[in-house]
Amino acid sequence: MASRSTGFNSGLDIGKSYYVATANPAPDHRALAGDVEADMVVVGGGCTGLSAALHAAERGLKVVLLEGGKIGWGASGRNGGQMIPGLRKGARGLVKSFGPERAKALFDLAFEARGLVLDIIERHGIECDLRQTGHLVGAVTSSDVRDFEDEAECLAKVMNFTDVEILSAAEARRMVDTPYQGAVYERLGGHMHPLNYTLGLARAAVAAGVVIHENSVAVRLEREPSIRVFTDKGSVRAKHVVLAGDALLKGLEPRVNSRIMPVGNYIVATEPLGARNVIPANVAVSDTLFVVNYYRMSADGRLLFGGGERYTPSPPADIAGFVRPHMEKTFPQLKGCRIDHAWGGLVSITTSRLPHVGHYGEVYFAHGYSGKGVILSTLSGKLLAEAITGDASRLDLFSTLTPLPFPGGTALRGPLYVLGMLWYAMRDRLRH
Ligand SMILES: Cc1cc2nc3c(=O)[nH]c(=O)nc-3n(C[C@H](O)[C@H](O)[C@H](O)COP(=O)(O)OP(=O)(O)OC[C@H]3O[C@@H](n4cnc5c(N)ncnc54)[C@H](O)[C@@H]3O)c2cc1C
Repeated sequence: MASRSTGFNSGLDIGKSYYVATANPAPDHRALAGDVEADMVVVGGGCTGLSAALHAAERGLKVVLLEGGKIGWGASGRNGGQMIPGLRKGARGLVKSFGPERAKALFDLAFEARGLVLDIIERHGIECDLRQTGHLVGAVTSSDVRDFEDEAECLAKVMNFTDVEILSAAEARRMVDTPYQGAVYERLGGHMHPLNYTLGLARAAVAAGVVIHENSVAVRLEREPSIRVFTDKGSVRAKHVVLAGDALLKGLEPRVNSRIMPVGNYIVATEPLGARNVIPANVAVSDTLFVVNYYRMSADGRLLFGGGERYTPSPPADIAGFVRPHMEKTFPQLKGCRIDHAWGGLVSITTSRLPHVGHYGEVYFAHGYSGKGVILSTLSGKLLAEAITGDASRLDLFSTLTPLPFPGGTALRGPLYVLGMLWYAMRDRLRH
């Protein structure tokens, strides 16, 4: 797998990731050459695109998928693997923005992502180190614990959802060996090897009839007289197009791009920790900092720790050195431990922290999961396929979430956003 190199999106040290080093064998897919026709063309071989392709093919559509790099080369194959049900925006935020009825409908729909992913893993026999051990959010301050309590109350009252448990500092410490003020434990969360899940999804899509072309960057989208997507060596003419390039999509459809912002995020994998395991409950963990730390144990006993964001286009020269201080602040007992892998990826965020999903005519898109896309991306892909094959009701519910564009237009959104982010990151340092 490490030799499956590609020019497109090969930055941020994907080749050095723990996931690439432990990837299941997967076939190469030849690049597009010449002009072909299909019912649907998908741009992007991450979980959004693959799920859209799989579900459309299962409904009888002829589907061609173009991936600029290799399958799983984007966020889907690089992320923390934390399976966190729901949306990035909490229950109270949803109620405030949409009222209780719509908030509950959105919550229920987003929650479906968990069951969908578990079903796909089982149905297609995907080996991806799935652990249904739950997800814990550690409170950095005592006011965060009060916040958890208010959120749990809203979840119970409005969403009729009671699968969360507020933990005391001592109870949290028994699950993860770092001193939080308390925690909220979401029993229905978990974690998995995201690249192996993505490769499994690709295998399922191919079995359903999808034709995948890797190393095939979509460089131009023509809408008239019909949809046609061009690479430098060919084109796909189709009735519908799904844009599933997330943070990497760039200029194919400017209306889609103006509502997401790519942010660099970095992860390390330690040496196998053996008896020094710091997460006895083997849960996925994140904390309440604005620049969130998130971590979990891998199947072979390493700590996979994500921490630190960068709002400038260039990654840090030494990713391990960039993440290590965040890890050692959380786990001083791991000071000096060996780091075997370090890599990064681009998280696409929106102004509302809700996904941007919808369509302009026959141009469909879904992206901007704002750091909560491991399972939500598979659901979004399915909603796109449902809409394209005639039932848009559930996609329509999601597309009402449309976030505002970033202020400053495409030229200024970066600098203005960086200023805002730096302010919140500084607040983290004062709180922690
Ligand atoms: C470091 C990191 C950690 C994260 N951790 C978590 C986590 O623990 N839990 C969680 O829920 N979420 C997490 N996320 C977010 C989650 O990974 C993403 O939301 C999700 O994977 C997005 O999936 P996608 O298929 O939409 O996009 P991607 O997986 O990025 O796929 C897009 C694909 O499109 C291809 N592409 C783009 N443009 C073109 C083009 N023009 N032509 C052809 N191909 C193109 C890219 O090469 C890429 O393969 C994390 C993200 C990152 C980067």
